[in-house]
Amino acid sequence: MFQGLEQTGGLWGVIPRRLASMPFIITDPCIETKDTACVDVCPVDCIHPRKDEPEFAQATMLYIHPEECIDCGACVPACPVAAIYDSIDATPSNQNDLIEANAVYRNGDPALMAQAEEIVKAHLAAQPALMAIPAAERQAAPASH
Ligand code: SF4
Ligand code: SF4
Repeated sequence: MFQGLEQTGGLWGVIPRRLASMPFIITDPCIETKDTACVDVCPVDCIHPRKDEPEFAQATMLYIHPEECIDCGACVPACPVAAIYDSIDATPSNQNDLIEANAVYRNGDPALMAQAEEIVKAHLAAQPALMAIPAAERQAAPASH
């Protein structure tokens, strides 16, 4: 599944090269919320899809483009459900699959959008207990790291 493995010393020990520089990551509390508050504050417009993009209605959640994000941090406090983390290491283990969803999603590319959405679909299927917790309370769920 992954290409370009490298040692990082991070949470996974060995992670894909293209994920090694992942900056900010959106996780599953976005799924029910998707209010685009993060989009409104992002200075480089790297969170997709936006409400004015046709892909918005179909997308299960929003994704941060890992190469366009400038690590400013503005989106984190803007999110009403604490869905955004600032690194792979900070992302709870039960959200690790969504790191790749952020990495692969490219707005306007049907194959990559579908790939990201498949990851999210698998996440939903694998985490029924987690998803039963209201989005705003999920970050505080036990064993989240
Ligand atoms: S950290 Fe800054 S640049 Fe990156 S997604 Fe958040 S608001 Fe946008
Ligand atoms: S602010 Fe949070 S919940 Fe709203 S769209 Fe962004 S990541 Fe999703």
